[in-house]
Amino acid sequence: DIQLAERVQRVKPSPTMAVTARAAEMRAAGHDIIGLGAGEPDFDTPEHISAAAIEAIRAGQTRYTAVDGTPALKKAIQAKFERDNGLHYEANQILVSSGAKQSLYNLFMALLDEGDEVVIPAPYWVSYPDMALLAGATPVVVEADQSQRFKITPDQLDAAITDRTRIVVLNSPSNPTGSAYSRAEFEALGEVLRRYPDVVIASDDIYEEILWTDEGFANIVMACPDLTERTVVVNGVSKGYAMTGWRIGYAAGPAPVIGAMKKIQSQSTSNASSISQAASVAALDGDQSVIGPMVKAFRERHDYVVERLNAMQGVSCIVGDGTFYAYPNVSGAIAALDGVENDTALAEYLIGEANVALVPGTAFGLPGHMRISYATSMENLEKAMDRLEGVFGRV
Ligand code: PLP
Repeated sequence: DIQLAERVQRVKPSPTMAVTARAAEMRAAGHDIIGLGAGEPDFDTPEHISAAAIEAIRAGQTRYTAVDGTPALKKAIQAKFERDNGLHYEANQILVSSGAKQSLYNLFMALLDEGDEVVIPAPYWVSYPDMALLAGATPVVVEADQSQRFKITPDQLDAAITDRTRIVVLNSPSNPTGSAYSRAEFEALGEVLRRYPDVVIASDDIYEEILWTDEGFANIVMACPDLTERTVVVNGVSKGYAMTGWRIGYAAGPAPVIGAMKKIQSQSTSNASSISQAASVAALDGDQSVIGPMVKAFRERHDYVVERLNAMQGVSCIVGDGTFYAYPNVSGAIAALDGVENDTALAEYLIGEANVALVPGTAFGLPGHMRISYATSMENLEKAMDRLEGVFGRV
């Protein structure tokens, strides 16, 4: 057998794989499976953005660009931060990458050594713990349950930070819960973070646009400007502009950290796609009114799905602030079903009994729940909710 690196063993295969594989199997066997597992908008990329990419190809923008991004895109990102967040970054404080995922990976690789700790609130996006493990660090998971709207408290944060903590990850609005921290909540977390000056904050803002709170979007640096010098803000065009396949994300933060991330990227992938960068300029600089209708559709579907879920036996779901995910507590349903002992088993059971594919909460570090992506048509959602209700029963 070929010997693989120890690092590969550190990372566990995704717990969503079993469900995805089972769903694919069932589909192949002719079953009409509704997949509510997707982590991406179901909309097409807006026309003017695609047109800018085609124009870039025709204009010969098909070569390597600067590792950290084209001057045009970095300018558009600077303007976006000024316009939407009131944040000012110099060009050397910005790095364009192949998706926000690579931005985060670069950040973890740039900051983490063996034995370092990364504080990760759960439920979390599946990649944070494994990225920490790949970098040789230890994930420190802080659980925030449904009763606290899946948001960690300042006391929990305080208790999780040790002298090994290098990074605290904050993701708002959150995948998988749809919850967003308010500005006041960020201020309270900021008070704790101020006491630990060596800790770097990773603010994952990828769902910024998909939000419907009255207060509007905030992140840790908008709430606590004094933390700017040790916060790296990660964002991208994937979710808000329906551009997941284009692979453009970006990071903004202290120049030395961004410089280190750029060095890592220069020895792994170099620049993100020149064509996708041109498209992203059009996304960030162009007509922002393309976002509204998508958010409106997500919100309508959210309202529908949450209402239907709460009418099912053993299921309870809080109202979300944004994203395109609901994270219902299904512990009552698990208890009521013979032979289904946890959320992973429930996911398998639902594929078979309801022909609906969902991701179990265990994948996100908080069992007893399921993640439902409502980035699909209302027709699909109606069918899926009818089927789930058929299994769980009505309240
Ligand atoms: N962060 C979170 C919370 C996400 O849900 C995702 C995508 O699923 C990403 C980052 C990565 O996004 P990108 O497609 O830009 O790599």
